[in-house]
Amino acid sequence: MNTIDRRTILGTGALALAGAAQSRPAAAQAGPKPMFPVAAITIPIVGETDVFQVRRIYCIGRNYAAHSREMGSDPTREPPFFFQKPTDAIQNVAIGTVADHPYPSLTRNYHYEVELVAALKSGGTNIPVEQALDHVYGYAVGLDMTRRDLQRAMGDEKKPWEIGKSFDHAAVLGPIHPAAKTGHFSKGAISLAVNGAVKQSSNLLNMSWNVAEQVAKLSEAFELKAGDIIYSGTPENVGPVVKGDVLLCKIEGLPDMSIKIV
Ligand code: MN
Repeated sequence: MNTIDRRTILGTGALALAGAAQSRPAAAQAGPKPMFPVAAITIPIVGETDVFQVRRIYCIGRNYAAHSREMGSDPTREPPFFFQKPTDAIQNVAIGTVADHPYPSLTRNYHYEVELVAALKSGGTNIPVEQALDHVYGYAVGLDMTRRDLQRAMGDEKKPWEIGKSFDHAAVLGPIHPAAKTGHFSKGAISLAVNGAVKQSSNLLNMSWNVAEQVAKLSEAFELKAGDIIYSGTPENVGPVVKGDVLLCKIEGLPDMSIKIV
């Protein structure tokens, strides 16, 4: 076989393959299917029949300073730090309900952390602060539930505190409210009550790093994408719950979110 013949045959073969691919039925084109399918993790969106599919859950650590942002930016503030929870740690809580939330295994010091949650419709890397809110689709009231004893014990041993933060049902949140309707959340009261007694009470103004800054900083470390959600950090006065406790979370401008520890 000479070179020209070989080219001709290869070319014909490629064309034949291309033709075969085009004529294949749609089902065959889909390729291999998961042997053990896993459900998509989604969050309801208020006012929409479609849902928000979750890609990643990012959380901001220690994001409320004792002093107000209105006192001026603090040059000594620490850079924000991040951790993640597994996507399937999400527990959706419907408006107007008190959802049962299971007290998790291994802990004897199970803590609440009420937080504003931002949900992204797009992303990127090295996003400028001025453009960061363009990527935010909406907001929800969230609870970053924490096995505090395990978190502290691991921290004390300089081990990853994943087991204190990343477990089943650890990412509780209400439905997402589109920012197109609510606007963006840079200020407003945020609080948490246990059995009617207010435990955490602050204002979103007190966040050391606001949502735009969180998105910008996160995008330096990770490529953000649609479906990412960000727990914005909790105000002071976190504390423990026991079975039977009812938690009521409030963020000004969003409906309340409530769970019962069972
Ligand atoms: Mn937190």
